[in-house]
Amino acid sequence: MPQRIGVMGGTFDPIHLGHLRTAEEAVEFLDLEALYFIPSASPPHKPGRKILPFEHRWRMLELAVKDHPKFCYSDIEHDLPGKSYTVVTLQKLHEMWRHSVELYFLVGLDAFLELDSWWHYRELFELAHICVLRRPEYREEDVAGFLRTKVSSTYYWDDNERLYRHSSYLPVHPLRNSHLGISSTRIRRLVSEGRSIRYLVLPEVMRYIATKQLYSVEELEPEIKKGNCLL
Ligand code: ATP
Ligand code: MG
Repeated sequence: MPQRIGVMGGTFDPIHLGHLRTAEEAVEFLDLEALYFIPSASPPHKPGRKILPFEHRWRMLELAVKDHPKFCYSDIEHDLPGKSYTVVTLQKLHEMWRHSVELYFLVGLDAFLELDSWWHYRELFELAHICVLRRPEYREEDVAGFLRTKVSSTYYWDDNERLYRHSSYLPVHPLRNSHLGISSTRIRRLVSEGRSIRYLVLPEVMRYIATKQLYSVEELEPEIKKGNCLL
């Protein structure tokens, strides 16, 4: 039996309890052997925003996941040249594990509905089970429409297993995770305003942000001016 391995990509700028709790729930629902958090080195989807250097994001990730028996983290995207493309990362993981794993790619509904802008996005649906995490303000009903218009019109709903099936792509799983209105954007903004982020991130991450004085107003000013904040 192939091992069931989860993969959660993101900028993790910073990693927060929304990532961690939904990852925990996904491990349980999908019965995963391990879940890899993979921070992107150079995300193609965040143009115009200054992203914290990889080393800080990596260190916070390490602090947040190191004690969990099933959570792992990989710097595979840091070592790949150029922009971080998820298709390439998933191919690399399959090669690394000699195709003896089943990959489950976790993606928030916000990001899922933009997958058609990702490089060679249809291949994602061949390389991994796509597991869609609910996020407040995004409608789960839009998953079916997206799949049928942007990937293939022949997806169908399997009511027993609660997933979308297709004859040539791997299943797509809409997950019933907790709705957590937490985003890194909100955290960066709170820090820049001198407000508390307690209970939105782990204490270790909160201390790291304070000690290194990350997310200062100067750094975030363009983002705040654009009104690019969820809450
Ligand atoms: P930003 O606000 O900077 O975009 P973010 O909070 O969305 O940050 P990312 O690093 O962009 O965090 O997210 C990585 C992945 O985790 C994405 O697929 C995203 O949709 C998902 N995700 C982030 N926060 C949550 C949450 N609260 N609930 C469910 N999924 C989430
Ligand atoms: Mg995001």
